[in-house]
Amino acid sequence: METLKLESQRAHDYRHLIARWRGVARAAGLRLEAFAQSGGYPVYCLRTRNGFAGGLYISAGIHGDEPAGCEGLLRWAARHLPRLMRRLPPLPILLLPCLNPWGLIHNRRTDEAGNDLNRIFNRRDISPVGELQDLLVGRCFDLALHLHEDYDAQGNYLYELNAERTSWGHQLLARCRAALPIDGRRRIDKRRFEAGLYLRQGAVRPIPEHPEALHLYRAHCPHVFTFETPSEFDLKRRVQAQVLLIEECTRRLLRLRRSSRF
Ligand SMILES: [Zn+2]
Repeated sequence: METLKLESQRAHDYRHLIARWRGVARAAGLRLEAFAQSGGYPVYCLRTRNGFAGGLYISAGIHGDEPAGCEGLLRWAARHLPRLMRRLPPLPILLLPCLNPWGLIHNRRTDEAGNDLNRIFNRRDISPVGELQDLLVGRCFDLALHLHEDYDAQGNYLYELNAERTSWGHQLLARCRAALPIDGRRRIDKRRFEAGLYLRQGAVRPIPEHPEALHLYRAHCPHVFTFETPSEFDLKRRVQAQVLLIEECTRRLLRLRRSSRF
């Protein structure tokens, strides 16, 4: 119990998060790179260098009051990243451990200036959104995951943007049910959901909100998920759900890469 209590108290401890990421990066033979400053804090990425096509993009913590994504991504990486990097060729990755450090530290959705960073991917003048767009130039991924949480959620739910594959959404949600139930609401944020999934296939127009997921989908990746765990549920289970989602996505991605297409 003591360990769990300590971890939940530290869910907003950015320094602790990054210290643990340094260990993970070292074990995986990667470098934790500060690519931007936001609210007085460095924003980090881990990446394999260009040269390998495709791979995996995962970002967490763009909303600072949604800590399970940051913790889940770290725990997944600690468990799997060293092995993924030892593969030949290694799985190309771009991982963003926490895009809004000020928000995480202060348990706020926005950055220090009040910007919702997930609504301004049409802007290049706000950190770290502009620098992230620069990091993405010339990169194409097979799969992108955006890790979020929602205070109104009654379980896990998922947005899927899918240009060419069979949908994975329902199977991913089924896998994550080992940690938390699926949100059964039929309407979430004015969109119609079916058993926890909002699926869009084919081309998608820009929307006024300019979220990160749409930026990835329109320019860098044909298969994009935004995963939401319910903020009012137990942190340990939310983190577990986030880990399960990433594990299942990675398993499917590696299977695809082994098949003829890659
Ligand atoms: Zn969010």
